Amino acid sequence: MTIDLLAFGAHPDDVEIGAGGTLIKHQQAGYKVAIIDLTAGEMGSNGTAEIRAKESQTAGEIMGLEFRDCLGLPDGKVKNDSKAIKLVVEKIRKHRPQIVLAPYWQDRHPDHINSSQLITEACFKAGLRKFDASGEPYRPQAVVYYFLAQVDEPDFIVDISNVYETKLEALFAHDSQVNHTKKNSFKTVLNTSNFLKKLDARFKYLGSLINTEAGEGFKYKKAIELSDLTTLRGGV
Ligand SMILES: [Zn+2]
Repeated sequence: MTIDLLAFGAHPDDVEIGAGGTLIKHQQAGYKVAIIDLTAGEMGSNGTAEIRAKESQTAGEIMGLEFRDCLGLPDGKVKNDSKAIKLVVEKIRKHRPQIVLAPYWQDRHPDHINSSQLITEACFKAGLRKFDASGEPYRPQAVVYYFLAQVDEPDFIVDISNVYETKLEALFAHDSQVNHTKKNSFKTVLNTSNFLKKLDARFKYLGSLINTEAGEGFKYKKAIELSDLTTLRGGV
């Protein structure tokens, strides 16, 4: 199946946090969107791989994904090595996404950093005819990077105001990770009552930069082409 937007995350809730609204928005506009999680998140302090797989599928249904896969790489030990690159190349060649979404290359979590490099390298190598992996050579037309733990100056922002509630619904489907009312949960960054407040502040701030309610910011390594200047709305 070919996909318009294919988002890769290191862990099962990463894409929801960084780019969930963008995926939902494109799905609602008629594009085919999908997620591939590199790991099952089995090293998370709360939940198990089984619980997290169920939560991920529920979140995927909320976002209207065509599919959600898990590559089964080891959580906490994601490496940009030849085995992992080959697995990702085969997925890219199979689904032929126009746009690939990957974690931003700067972050506190080594898995996010390594995933960013892994996805970038795989997108390039997927287009090499002689690269040893199954499938026809294919290279996505662009790779964009979403923010996780570290937010820097975005290269562009997607207005997610109309889908913000749905994005949060998808994020909160990851109940084992983000529910701060559970008594027996190990305390993490994700399950404190502050977490939602901080995230909310992030998306409202990014929205404010484009004069809207909520936004998701992205890094993009190339210049952005603009053919219609009347789409600019930033004012003076
Ligand atoms: Zn993560």
